[in-house]
Amino acid sequence: MPDRAPQPVDRTLPTEEARDLIALVREIVQREIAPRAAEEEEAGRFPREVFSLLSESGLLGLPYGSEYGGGDQPYEVYLQVLEELAGARLTVGLGVSVHSLACHALAGYGTKEQRAEHLAAMLGGGLLGAYCLSEPSSGSDAASLRTKAERDGDDWVITGTKAWITHGGIADFYTVLARTGGEGARGISAFLVPGDAEGLSAAAPEKKMGMKGSPTAQLHFDGVRVPDSRRIGDEGQGFAIALSALDSGRLGIAACAIGVAQAALDESLSYATGRRQFGRPIADFQGLRFMLADMATKVEAGRALYLAAARLRDRGLPFSKEAAMAKLFCTDTAMQVATDAVQVLGGYGYTADFPVERLMREAKVLQIVEGTNQIQRMVIARHLAGPESR
Ligand SMILES: Cc1cc2nc3c(=O)[nH]c(=O)nc-3n(C[C@H](O)[C@H](O)[C@H](O)COP(=O)(O)OP(=O)(O)OC[C@H]3O[C@@H](n4cnc5c(N)ncnc54)[C@H](O)[C@@H]3O)c2cc1C
Repeated sequence: MPDRAPQPVDRTLPTEEARDLIALVREIVQREIAPRAAEEEEAGRFPREVFSLLSESGLLGLPYGSEYGGGDQPYEVYLQVLEELAGARLTVGLGVSVHSLACHALAGYGTKEQRAEHLAAMLGGGLLGAYCLSEPSSGSDAASLRTKAERDGDDWVITGTKAWITHGGIADFYTVLARTGGEGARGISAFLVPGDAEGLSAAAPEKKMGMKGSPTAQLHFDGVRVPDSRRIGDEGQGFAIALSALDSGRLGIAACAIGVAQAALDESLSYATGRRQFGRPIADFQGLRFMLADMATKVEAGRALYLAAARLRDRGLPFSKEAAMAKLFCTDTAMQVATDAVQVLGGYGYTADFPVERLMREAKVLQIVEGTNQIQRMVIARHLAGPESR
């Protein structure tokens, strides 16, 4: 039996324009991303030129309005673009998702003047964004963050440390959550900080298990001064803005996870139909056939779940619970399917000669970022059963 070459995913897309978009993304993936993914991940190299190309091609502002240079695409289309990118290289797919997350505050809560001044450059002007919520002592409990922004005339002076920032040290702009008032969620405001602001510096990138090409770094704010015109939304509205960004961001993570899972499934099928043991392709053995069937079913279920949540969002309906469910299920699926893929490839799966070991290392981070999967369960349970009593 010959190797079964992976077939492109047969997507349900709402328009001809969306079909063209996916075709363009596949071309960029084939030409610019997939051929260098393994080598550059091993070397820890961030593909800045790929992000410039994506920006020029209109792929960094897809879900935002065209009046500011966005692509006017529904979330169901944008997420499938992310899935395609992440399947080729998570550093790129997740990077686009984080960039989009960083644009969310200004696009959704900025004044007309702020949007006119900054948004077009952010969505399609070649800039790269980052989103700064986490701190060394506040991760899941993000509302306890300590980075301060203090008023000084018409300016704000930001002091503190942000942790785990994707694109930390290389971004052109940072959406930063900082404390402007008292304790808790209501004392937090959002700011748009330029990457070259005086007093802003990045530590050396973290040495991670996977996604080594994506720099993740602590950022130090040492009296970083920004004018009040860079405060987004009202004073004290920052945490609500951050949570709203995360509802959408979680759908991005879910889509990236299905990209990783699909890539692992494709590798497994291709290998299992070519590898022979006991005189037959290993894909003949029911032990593996059932495993492949379970992997494929989970991938399809995950895709259907994130698309269902995206379609709620596209219709302006509440989607927070569904986004948490999609993030939880799709990222657990990515971990399970990538782990199974290593098993399907046997000893070869455990080596860097095949991509499944990288996919397995990459899948793990998706269960942690943008709210761990324990936190997603808390969000879902609150929607189902109301807030916990103390
Ligand atoms: C590669 C990478 C990139 C990242 N990029 C960004 C970024 O761009 N911007 C940003 O702001 N942050 C980013 N993060 C941070 C990420 O969002 C946090 O790591 C995550 O929110 C968890 O926080 P923590 O690591 O402090 O873990 P903790 O909050 O300390 O949690 C530790 C463990 O305790 C569990 N836990 C905590 N509270 C509860 C609870 N109430 N009930 C049950 N279990 C609980 C968690 O689920 C986890 O298993 C990134 C992280 C990584 C690893």
